[in-house]
Amino acid sequence: MATFYKVTIKEIKQETANAVSVLFNIPQQLQSEFRFTAGQYITLQKEINGEEVRRAYSICSTPESGDIRVAIKAVEKGVFSMHATSDLKVGDDIEITAPEGRFLLNTEANRNYIGFAAGSGITPILSMVKTVLAKESTSTFTLVYGNKSEADTIFFSELNTLKKSFSDRFKLHYIFSRENVKNELRGRISEYVEKYPNAKYIAGKRPWEVKCDIALPCATQNELNEEEAETLAAAPS
Ligand SMILES: Cc1cc2nc3c(=O)[nH]c(=O)nc-3n(C[C@H](O)[C@H](O)[C@H](O)COP(=O)(O)OP(=O)(O)OC[C@H]3O[C@@H](n4cnc5c(N)ncnc54)[C@H](O)[C@@H]3O)c2cc1C
Repeated sequence: MATFYKVTIKEIKQETANAVSVLFNIPQQLQSEFRFTAGQYITLQKEINGEEVRRAYSICSTPESGDIRVAIKAVEKGVFSMHATSDLKVGDDIEITAPEGRFLLNTEANRNYIGFAAGSGITPILSMVKTVLAKESTSTFTLVYGNKSEADTIFFSELNTLKKSFSDRFKLHYIFSRENVKNELRGRISEYVEKYPNAKYIAGKRPWEVKCDIALPCATQNELNEEEAETLAAAPS
């Protein structure tokens, strides 16, 4: 059974109208337990309306930052996400597990990474983007990121800042399903995900036509279906 550690909430940031990011105070004696690789998640546990509720959330900070931060998007009638985005406060106690999960990014030099994220699927991908940009000066990252609108886009300004700072190595393509935005695509990300199990190149007329070595798909259900996610995950590394 998973071990839960009681920690407190250090910071809550409103990222969009219905998503927050939450930073935890990790005591000194637990720091080594909470070392992680970009892509991993933690499980949060809280008593809500008299019941213990547990949910997994991917870590959006980078391993080098020393921070454990997750972003939680409210899901309609969702028990934990509604509580987290409406009622959680700085200083509250919460129980969390140590990082786990096998969706991992081990960075390499001279690689071209492409990430496909939809909605709150951006959380582990943000950690990966920042890790590649910081650690691998000879590698590039292309991110294709789908949302309803700009206002719904978690980490919108942070990603735009990264795009400016790393314009030679970080390409960012938004896809909006409910809004027309100049120079960005309109539609659902699933319409644009390429199937390329054995290709080293994402071909076609997409603006992210790039040489690609490693593909990293991440989306909540309904946004990328299982087949699309598996096809991308099977891309060569
Ligand atoms: C590895 C992993 C990483 C994840 N990372 C993130 C992340 O970084 N950010 C993020 O926001 N989420 C993430 N998730 C999803 C997260 O764990 C939760 O599933 C999500 O927040 C919803 O939880 P909830 O308690 O709010 O919703 P739940 O209460 O579990 O409900 C989920 C949905 O089911 C519906 N539902 C519930 N009960 C019923 C019922 N009886 N009848 C009909 N419908 C019902 C609800 O209306 C809601 O739409 C991740 C999941 C996994 C597995």
